[in-house]
Amino acid sequence: MTELYDLHCHSTASDGALSPTELVQRAHQQGVTSLALTDHDTTAGLTEAQLCADATGVKLITGIELSTNWQDKCFHIVGLGIDPNYAPLAEATCNLQSTRLERAEKIALKLEKKRIPDALEAVKNAAGDGMITRTHFADFLVSQNHVSTQQEAFDRYLAKGKPAYVSTSWAKLELAVSWITESGGVAVLAHPLRYKLSANWMKRLLTAFKDAGGQGIEVITSRINADEIRLVADYATRFELAGSMGSDFHNAVNQWTELGRLAPLPKNIKPVWELLK
Ligand code: AMP
Ligand code: MN
Ligand code: MN
Ligand code: MN
Repeated sequence: MTELYDLHCHSTASDGALSPTELVQRAHQQGVTSLALTDHDTTAGLTEAQLCADATGVKLITGIELSTNWQDKCFHIVGLGIDPNYAPLAEATCNLQSTRLERAEKIALKLEKKRIPDALEAVKNAAGDGMITRTHFADFLVSQNHVSTQQEAFDRYLAKGKPAYVSTSWAKLELAVSWITESGGVAVLAHPLRYKLSANWMKRLLTAFKDAGGQGIEVITSRINADEIRLVADYATRFELAGSMGSDFHNAVNQWTELGRLAPLPKNIKPVWELLK
């Protein structure tokens, strides 16, 4: 059987549409042999995902996608092979749940000022026990016909600089990397091209990330073209980072972001899974 890795995806424990069980089942159907569930700032979906992984034969890699700050910007760090019970990490996810709830309250107030009431209750209901994310607000805005797509909700209300944007203080990047590595995991810079950094800023970021103990970079993501793959692979080589691949799957609506539907990792890049025990 050919190995197929997908090391970045979301379940209902954060802003994914599928439960951990449904997600692992879908990954299995798509031919994924090793799957990392990487919900935003939470490991709450991992236990359920493991049960379904055992039943289907998918190898589950424990994961998380931490929201972090470096130089006043937000960067997502994926942790792979983490120990969810490592106390500092477990404590951090608990704090991040409060951070996200407080941010949600502020976003809802801003929406109220734009004459859009009742957002808080709606996103709380939608998120249930999981993390409240801006995706939940986007879905609410679509459901109330304020916008017609999630993208439009971000463009008009939720993105940085828009009326309902709330600046949030996340964990420091260096600290988040230490939680991951000290729990036995590997820290990976998620979707490096999404931050729109200049080459110089990318160099500074990767230097700080390496110094903090970061070991990987997502070379392969969904919707990445050959030139972009070469660019990120070049960063991986120059900064001696292992390469990861992940779809960042959230739901089945977006057919461009399917579980396991990924270009292969370039041959000269060290696969991040070789670092996972
Ligand atoms: P949060 O971590 O709560 O700030 O939410 C970030 C999540 O919102 C990301 O992981 C994406 O799933 C989603 N997101 C961010 N920007 C956009 C966008 N422009 N369009 C659609 N979804 C977005
Ligand atoms: Mn998301
Ligand atoms: Mn992300
Ligand atoms: Mn993600």
